Amino acid sequence: MAKQEDDFKKVISHAKEYGYVFQSSEIYDGLSAVYDYGQNGAELKKNIREYWWTSMVQLNENIVGIDAAIFMHPTTWKASGHVDAFNDPLIDNKDSKKRYRADVLIEDYVAKIEAKIEKEVEKAAKRFGDSFEKEQFLTTNQRVMEYQEEATRILKRMGKSLANEDLADVKKLIEELEIACPMSGSKNWTDVKQFNLMFGTKLGASAENTTDLYLRPETAQGIFVNFSNVQKSGRMKIPFGIAQTGKAFRNEIVARQFIFRMREFEQMEMQFFIQPGTQKEWYEIWKQKRLKWHLSLGLGTENYRFHDHDKLAHYADAAADIEFRFPFGFKELEGIHSRTDFDLANHEKYSGKKLQYFDPEKNENYVPYVVETSIGLDRMFLAVFSHALQEEELDNGTVRTVLRLPSVLAPTKAAVLPLVKKDGLPELAQEIVEDLKWDFMVTYDEKDAVGRRYRRQDANGTPFCITVDHQSLEDHTVTLRHRDSMQQQRISINDVKGIIHKEVDMKSWLKQMV
Ligand code: ATP
Repeated sequence: MAKQEDDFKKVISHAKEYGYVFQSSEIYDGLSAVYDYGQNGAELKKNIREYWWTSMVQLNENIVGIDAAIFMHPTTWKASGHVDAFNDPLIDNKDSKKRYRADVLIEDYVAKIEAKIEKEVEKAAKRFGDSFEKEQFLTTNQRVMEYQEEATRILKRMGKSLANEDLADVKKLIEELEIACPMSGSKNWTDVKQFNLMFGTKLGASAENTTDLYLRPETAQGIFVNFSNVQKSGRMKIPFGIAQTGKAFRNEIVARQFIFRMREFEQMEMQFFIQPGTQKEWYEIWKQKRLKWHLSLGLGTENYRFHDHDKLAHYADAAADIEFRFPFGFKELEGIHSRTDFDLANHEKYSGKKLQYFDPEKNENYVPYVVETSIGLDRMFLAVFSHALQEEELDNGTVRTVLRLPSVLAPTKAAVLPLVKKDGLPELAQEIVEDLKWDFMVTYDEKDAVGRRYRRQDANGTPFCITVDHQSLEDHTVTLRHRDSMQQQRISINDVKGIIHKEVDMKSWLKQMV
């Protein structure tokens, strides 16, 4: 467990150090479960999105992509079931009449235990002076270890009760811990109730004239409400799919695993519209197709598994997750859901508009059934990034940190490095950059010894380094260094583009799906 946590911490700090992911508004101490993507993260994210979009939209004649708005008519969320059934636990104090999130009360209690630990650390630091070792103190001091165990036990129990929707146990935990209302000091609590996960906002300029809206908690509904628009304007014939990528927002309660669970995140979803009765078949097809997409990136078959749901969401008649081995264990990466006609039929009911398809072969109208594939872009980012980050012991006994991103997804494909900063080498290196930049993201780096620059690019995930030396001026050749094998080859400058292209070309990666 400790190793897992340690590995995960390394992932988070590497993501920050190399410009992949930053905490949102960090200068103001951050905003919980909200993150920003840096210069490299934005590229990696864009490349993952493109890899998904190409496989879905470009490679499937019967799938088209749309880009629906985040704001939708509020009745959408009544029809979809989110107003009534998309909830988290909440508790009221009977004396102060104040309302709290049950989990936050418990978390605050744990924060007090953590504050006690900090106090012990401060005291000991004073006592031992320069010889104080914080890590050692934390892992050997009896009292501190007890505090830590208590904190972990409480958080674990809360997480388990929430996951099991055992709200009675959440209340029992609050009572056992004798948590009092911060306002009244009273321990007189109501039962824990559900709290809706959707973020509300308002549309309109004046207070009297506003409409309550929600930030969408999933992108899927933007597809459903546009079903007829797309079907008619695109003259789509069933079976066909509509894909989209975009932001979704959830006021998540347990949001502690970096970009695994965020309050603002991005989804990549595809709704496949089919004839009623064919859903089992299509559900199996899409499960397999999506797994193949994942496997095409070469992160290892052993790191994926299916998890079939026993407890189905309100809209589904079958559902499975594709789970990935994250640094903290196997967890959901993507969901494949057989959604029946739940969404379209409800939108028909609430809007009063027909959302049906006239099937020319059967000569009849029907509300299509839907099989959905839904993946979090940020979760996919975390899967790729955490798997890629490796520490590798080299023959000379040193350790190199290398980010083995699939080269098709790597933010920068090549770094061009003049061996020295003089004798015309920077100029030739810049010429190479000028030529390559039309095809790939490339970078130029002339600072530090070339060995250090190689390590920097390894840690950054750049698949190729191109080194320009004095010989380059004479015979127009360079050294091409491969990130993964560290092998170097002497090649003509004219061949550089072709070699990189062969390695990073999306086509050859995606072809592994078929
Ligand atoms: P979980 O069980 O992890 O809360 P979910 O079953 O609620 O996820 P879905 O509603 O099926 O998730 O959403 C589809 C996908 O969207 C998930 O597989 C996941 O990749 C992603 N996703 C959902 N919630 C979040 C979140 N808060 N942060 C990042 N990604 C998310």
